Amino acid sequence: MEKTLVLLKPCTVQRGLVGEIISRFEKKGLKLIGMKMMQLTDEILCEHYSHLREKPFFGILKDSMKATPVLACCWEGIDAVRVVRTMTGSTNGRNADPGTIRGDYCMSNQQNIVHASDSLETAAVEIKRFFKEEELFEYTPSNLNFMYALDEM
Ligand code: UDP
Ligand code: MG
Repeated sequence: MEKTLVLLKPCTVQRGLVGEIISRFEKKGLKLIGMKMMQLTDEILCEHYSHLREKPFFGILKDSMKATPVLACCWEGIDAVRVVRTMTGSTNGRNADPGTIRGDYCMSNQQNIVHASDSLETAAVEIKRFFKEEELFEYTPSNLNFMYALDEM
């Protein structure tokens, strides 16, 4: 099964939406295999958002990500990377489809509730960036046979 990284951004912590957003992923049937609160630093953000380093908004993006601690979560499931990206919606909350997290909870292109890994390769790198091996857990959900068909697992 795939693993993917989600960060609940400071805007989500400040707005008291942590429980609601985690609940969406839980209800979908994704399996939570790691979660921790952490204060991000310039160092980790420069790595994490290296593709945006030259953008004029890079400074305020980093500041917004350091405004409070974030919740880093690792979710597991079949096709988890794509499923979580689809649930997240497009970057700008004003353009994101209703029914997606960004579409339902935000009005901003930056204060957009969650980060979600965008490919299997990125997910592997990002999970390593935020979690030590011993911070991720293996367990069998008791309802697994009702989450997926036998020929899907
Ligand atoms: N971002 C921004 N202004 C922009 C584009 C992106 O502030 O014009 C921020 C926004 O918080 C976004 C993050 O940079 O979530 C990472 O950008 P990316 O293009 O990777 O979007 P995402 O994968 O988060 O949808
Ligand atoms: Mg991205």
